[in-house]
Formats: sequence, structure tokens, C-alpha cells
Amino acid sequence: MNNGALVLGVVALLALAACAGPQGTAENPLLAEWTGPFQSPPFDRIRDEDFEPAFEAAMAAHAAEVKAIADSAEPPTFANTVEALERSGKQLDRVSKVFFNLNAARTSDVLQATARKVSPELAGHRDDIMLDEKLFARIKAVWDRREELDLDPEQQRLLERQYTEFVRNGANLEGEDRERFRQINAELSKLTTRFGENLLKEMNAVALLIEDEADLAGLPQGVRDAAAALAASQGHEGAWAFNLQRTSWTPFLQYSERRDLRERLHTAYTSLCAHGGETDNREIAARIAALRVERANLLGYPTHAAWVLEENMAKTPEAVYELLDQLWTPALARARRERDGLQDLAHRLGDDITLASWDWWYYAEKLRAEKYAFDEAEVKPYLELERVRQAAFDTANRLWGITFARRDDVPVYHPDVQAWEVRDADGSLLGLYFTDHFARESKRGGAWMDNYRDQWKEDGKNIRPIIVNVCNFSRPPEGQPALLSLDEASTLFHEFGHFLHGLFARGTYASLSGTNVAQDFVEMPSQMMENWALAPEVLPTYAVHYRTGEPIPAALIAKLERARRFNQGFATTEYLAASLLDMDWHTLTTPEEKDPMAFEAAAMERLGLIPEIEPRYRTPYFSHIFAGGYSAGYYSYVWAEVLDADAFAAFEKAGIFDPELARSYRENILEKGDSEPAMVLYERFRGARPSIEPLLERRGLTGEDG
Ligand SMILES: [Zn+2]
Repeated sequence: MNNGALVLGVVALLALAACAGPQGTAENPLLAEWTGPFQSPPFDRIRDEDFEPAFEAAMAAHAAEVKAIADSAEPPTFANTVEALERSGKQLDRVSKVFFNLNAARTSDVLQATARKVSPELAGHRDDIMLDEKLFARIKAVWDRREELDLDPEQQRLLERQYTEFVRNGANLEGEDRERFRQINAELSKLTTRFGENLLKEMNAVALLIEDEADLAGLPQGVRDAAAALAASQGHEGAWAFNLQRTSWTPFLQYSERRDLRERLHTAYTSLCAHGGETDNREIAARIAALRVERANLLGYPTHAAWVLEENMAKTPEAVYELLDQLWTPALARARRERDGLQDLAHRLGDDITLASWDWWYYAEKLRAEKYAFDEAEVKPYLELERVRQAAFDTANRLWGITFARRDDVPVYHPDVQAWEVRDADGSLLGLYFTDHFARESKRGGAWMDNYRDQWKEDGKNIRPIIVNVCNFSRPPEGQPALLSLDEASTLFHEFGHFLHGLFARGTYASLSGTNVAQDFVEMPSQMMENWALAPEVLPTYAVHYRTGEPIPAALIAKLERARRFNQGFATTEYLAASLLDMDWHTLTTPEEKDPMAFEAAAMERLGLIPEIEPRYRTPYFSHIFAGGYSAGYYSYVWAEVLDADAFAAFEKAGIFDPELARSYRENILEKGDSEPAMVLYERFRGARPSIEPLLERRGLTGEDG
């Protein structure tokens, strides 16, 4: 996951730049000049209480800068308007970056209260800029003369991005349309928030309470313990509770021998927010979809998807459908074979049933144990955190000659955090890297990369980035090494890939630099690095038993390799069904509200989805698209996977440490940020448009391997 895009989504325009004088605020370390090593944030002096006044001062300073640009008596030029706006708000950007990073990785009551207070203020601040008519008139004047201005490609790109952002946010609308646009945005913001809140309520409610121990048949001790703890926390001491979070729901479906209870828990999930009452999301989803069409139409787009995708690598809904359709047929064919295999297994085990959707996990788990028998516990002793991290550093060193050195003198925000100075092959400084690997209460879940400072160039200086990777690995008991699962080792490399994308940046403008790229491109460099983690040339070099020093046995690697393809028909099919549902909702052309469940049923009918598989998310609980930022964007994950599989195929052909290819990958992709459209960058690196074949191969969807 890449956090930068999320945070920057909120403060996109604020993430631009220039120097605002701190007025009478010298005692606030967030507003003072940072003079320590790498001009890194002075975490040793920043107090949580400093953020609120810093935000107020920095927003006021930015508003004054923007006003000066808008009110300028000079005729508008690229430098005094477009570039000036890009460079404005540097102080606000600095405060925002430190704040949102800390609030995610080391939150506190004070930070959370500050977030509640400043988030709407930041949104309002952004709207004020986006809908500033004088400012937009100046930008438009520059845009209209763009052909005569002799701009270099980066300047052209900046102008285009800035002008487009204003237009996409309603700057060209007039009169009633402008008013309606604002109303739609306000209503959408309320509805999407409610959608998310309703879902959270239902996800966390107890969905299955077991009071008779016999009903736990089949569940491993760890699952029982977690269920007992959940029950106790909900006031059901001595019972066992399951909710609809994946960590609770999936193990029950995998292990419970009670088919009736599996059905109950599974159905509770697939009917989330769809049984009337206060938390029903069906009407809300239909209303959101309708409002989005109306907004797109106001802006001159036929559909919401057309409005969204114009910004992405895919460009059009047709291109997304083309990719998803190409994958759908082989994925469904493989899912059908998997279903037949599970049905056979059920019969072999003497279970007289017709496989249903609530049986899939249970028989798949039995088949996995039978076919690919291995225990995650067998692998962990070979994956010691420090070694895995060193392997990531070594991989980058072999590919590009870059080096990492610990810097204990750099202030950090938590004792777990380590700071690394990263230098290029020629010794020049590339950036500062924080690693923050262990879970703790004050950290939100998941793993992500974010920038404390973007890269950009100004006054002849190349400002280098400060980047953090945050994970949630289990902290080992005192005196013992931290051991990772294979997924966690991949996660470390994944986030390291995002880090490299930020680290190698060498653009002129912060808003076009590093990971500030299209949504369907941002996961490509991260997924790319996972390939090295698991490559046969790399894995055995770091996967060494922490006690005996023995390298991981070849037989174990082979088992891991085979197991990776297990159940991929199912996983691909349920994902694609949800992606296609997303696209169907967002290619509606008129703002009439649909009957949401009938609409979904018709969509699945057209696809020919088999009844043993449900879309990964159904409409009433598809929060990525109805509450999050992924509307007409859920396809992005597989789009990026097509790219990374295709790009890594080039490395497999040339040798995964081929220096020439590594150089080309760095220069054409990792250094370029959003300075040119992603497809242009990709084709320059690969010499062709991406092919889907390597992904089909990787997921075992080519037909032979069922
Ligand atoms: Zn990612």
C-alpha cells in the first residue's frame, strides 16, 4: 500500500511549495527552520500540541500566498501563476506531512482530536483555492496561450496537471451548474461517510456467538482463543464470538466442521448492510452512483468512470473492460475446475453435499493441507527480519549500487524507528529512510510508505526526499529474533519498492515527483520488488535458519512455489467479479437510481459467475468504491499486476540483476514520477505496451495447470 497518494489526496494542492515566513511563531518547532541532519523533522522537540497552532498559521500563510498570486497586477505568466502556485504552501505541506504520518504511525488522543478539527478545515481551504475564480482565470489565461510559451516538457506537464485539476473540480462551471456541483459534492461526502460508518458497525458486531464448546468442532486452539477473547470483550464471558472481520470470519470458514454454522456466518457476511434498519446501505449506494453520474454529466463526461479514468493509465472504461474481460474467461474456467476438485474431495471424505459458497474455504483448506502440506511455522525460522531487510538493501545495491548506512543521530518519533542515510553509487546523497517495522497500539493496521518530504528542485538545489516504511510485524519476545512469514517478507520488499520509487525521484516539481503518480500505476514499482524477494537467485541468500545457519531447503522452496498458485482461480474470479461490478456501477450514463440488488444480480448473470463464488465485495459493503477512493478504480490492483509481471519478465529474460535493464528501469520509471504519462514511461522502458501473458502464467491461468 502506498500512503502518499491517500494523504496527498486530501492535501493535493497544498502539497505544492514555497517559503512562508513564520510570524511570531518561532517557538513552534513545526514552523521554525529545521537545521538538524538532513533538515529532517525535529521529532525530539515537536509536541503533539504544536500541530493545531501550526496548521492555523500555515493555512493562513498559504491563503495569503495564493491571494497574492490571484490578485497580482502583473499579466499572468507560467512563472508568476502556475509555478508560483506549485511552490506555494510549503510550510503547510511540511506540517501536513509530519502530522498525517504521525497520526497513522504513532497516534495519540491529541493527534486524533487535531485530525478531527483540521481535516474539514483543510478540505475547506482546498475548496477555497479550487473555486477561486480570479486564480483560475489566471491559470486559464496561461493555459490558453500554452502553445506560444516555449515551455519545457516538465513545465507543460505541470500546467496541464494544474489546469486539469481545477477543471475537474468544477472551476469552469457557471451559475446554477456551479451551485449544483457544490451540492452534489456535499451530499456525496455525507453519503460516503455514512456508508463507511454503517459498514463498520455491522462488521464489528458479533455475527455468531457460540456457547456450547461442541459447536467449535474443527477449530484450532488459536482460533478458539481469539474467539473467546472477542466474546469476553463484548460481555459474553465464557462463550466464543465471531464477527465479519476477515481475521475472525475466514478461519471459521476454513476449519469449522459445522456446515450449518459456516452457512450462518457466511450469509451474515454476504448480507451485510442489506437487511433494513439504520445501517442498510442499499439505497445509499444507488444514490451515490446516481449523484456521481450527474456530476460527471455536469462536467461534460458521459459517465463517472470516464471522469475518473481520464486521470489513470487505463484512460477509458473500454480499456479497463478489455483487461478484465481477458482475465475473466480463463479465471472462471480455472475456478470451475477448482470447484470440481473440491466437490470430489467432499465426496472422497464421505460428505454427501453439493458444494455451496460457504463450503469453499473449508474444502480448499483440506485440499491445501493434502496437496501442498506445509506449515507456515516451518518457514518462519528462515525469515529473520534483519536478514530480510538486509536482503532488500543488497538487492538494491546489486541493481543500482546504492548503499545504506545507519544514522543514530537523526531524531526519530519512536524508539522502534531506525534512520538510514541512502547514497547513490557515486556517493551522492539520495535521501533519508526511516524504517518502522513493529506493530503497536498507536499504529493503524497494514503496511505503507509515505514521504516526510518530497523531492523537488529549487534555486539550483535538488531537495532530497525523506521517506518512511511502516509495517505491523509482531514484536518478538525479549532477546529473541523477529521472524517473519513469507507474506510479511514480501510485504517488506513491497514497501521497499514504493520507497525506491520515492527515493530515485529527480523532478523539478514536488507535485509531479516520486510516487505522486496515477492510481493504477502506483503499485507497479512496489509489486515489482516482491519478485526479487521470492526469486530463486535471492531467496536462498537470506532465508537462512536463525539458529542453525542452514539455508532454506530446496524442497521447501518448491512447495512454497506450488502453493502460491493454489486456489488462484477462486481468488482471481471473486476479485474480477467485484472489479466488474465497480465498473458497471460507474458506467451508468443517466442519474436514475437503480434497484441496487437487481442491478448487481443482472451484472453477475451477464458474467456467468458460478453460484459457489460471490464477488469479493457486494454492493452494500463495497466500501472501496462507495466510501473509499477506489470508485472505477478497484481494477487498479490487477492492472498494476499486469505491468509488474510483464516488466519482471524482461528481467527474467535478461537476468534479474542485468545492469543495463536495471539502469533503464530506474531512469525510465523510478526517477520519473508523474513528469510524463505512465504509459509513455512504461513503453520507453519495455519497448512495447504491456502484455497480459506473464500475469496469466504467474496466476496459473494459462489452462494447463488446474
Ligand atoms: Zn503498495
